[in-house]
Amino acid sequence: MGHGWEGVVLKLFRGRDFEFTVTGAEQVTDHYRRIHLADGGMLAATGVHPTMWVRLWFDDAGKPHQRAFTLVDPDPLQGTFSMEFALHEGRASDWARDAKPGDRIEATLQGSGFTVPDPPPSRLFVVGDAASLPAVNSLLDVMPEVPATIWFETRHPSDAELPLRAGAAHHELRPVSRQDGGAALVAEVKAALPGLLGDDRSDAFVWIACDTATTRVLAAYVRKELGLPKDRVNALGYWRPEKPGAR
Ligand SMILES: Cc1cc2nc3c(=O)[nH]c(=O)nc-3n(C[C@H](O)[C@H](O)[C@H](O)COP(=O)(O)OP(=O)(O)OC[C@H]3O[C@@H](n4cnc5c(N)ncnc54)[C@H](O)[C@@H]3O)c2cc1C
Repeated sequence: MGHGWEGVVLKLFRGRDFEFTVTGAEQVTDHYRRIHLADGGMLAATGVHPTMWVRLWFDDAGKPHQRAFTLVDPDPLQGTFSMEFALHEGRASDWARDAKPGDRIEATLQGSGFTVPDPPPSRLFVVGDAASLPAVNSLLDVMPEVPATIWFETRHPSDAELPLRAGAAHHELRPVSRQDGGAALVAEVKAALPGLLGDDRSDAFVWIACDTATTRVLAAYVRKELGLPKDRVNALGYWRPEKPGAR
């Protein structure tokens, strides 16, 4: 499959292309599916970093449809990783629903980059949802001793069973049911974060990845109103909510 103008732009930005092969699949909940993949030599060539993601190329009636997905438990020695898909309407979700051993998918690595801040934080504040769950888990994995507060936006009753690795005593999980396009999540974070941060915020790190609108609002709040320096905040919108009345 050609990758169209997006592929040309990614090449200009030195994107590197790979092909993955599905080796298995697990239905984790009714709305969440894990796919196991062989990496086509990627991990040995690129190395691994926390929250690492790639752009997958799906076929949408002959047109390239590119979406980002996060690597779960990448193993460079074995050349394997998994991917976890929050299922909804969409071409990527459809692909994951049907994925079976032997299926292949093209991928471009471009844009992913994350290093744990230096000096390392002694407190972590995370805002995420099912789409960013794999990235949240990789953050918690790489900072296992760091006390973390996690606001986790849920959409389905089964989201309570999602495999969030936040079971340690120093992890505080705050589930928030999605309402009003993310407004409930914004309100909960705004109500609690200033008190949790306290006056000395220099040792904190805030990581935000939910829908684009909610992420934008929360990132601006944390940077401008709470005054956290840029290098203590990482924010990236993971998915675009449908505009009201679009259908
Ligand atoms: C860096 C990065 C890493 C990501 N990693 C993952 C990951 O590991 N797992 C994962 O599931 N997602 C992940 N995402 C999000 C994923 O790329 C988007 O959800 C993407 O839109 C899915 O593509 P699609 O073709 O299924 O749906 P699209 O064609 O993009 O959208 C179809 C419809 O579904 C809605 N929609 C899209 N995403 C969601 C969602 N998450 N929840 C509810 N409704 C939605 C849209 O508003 C639209 O109405 C990541 C995004 C980024 C930026």
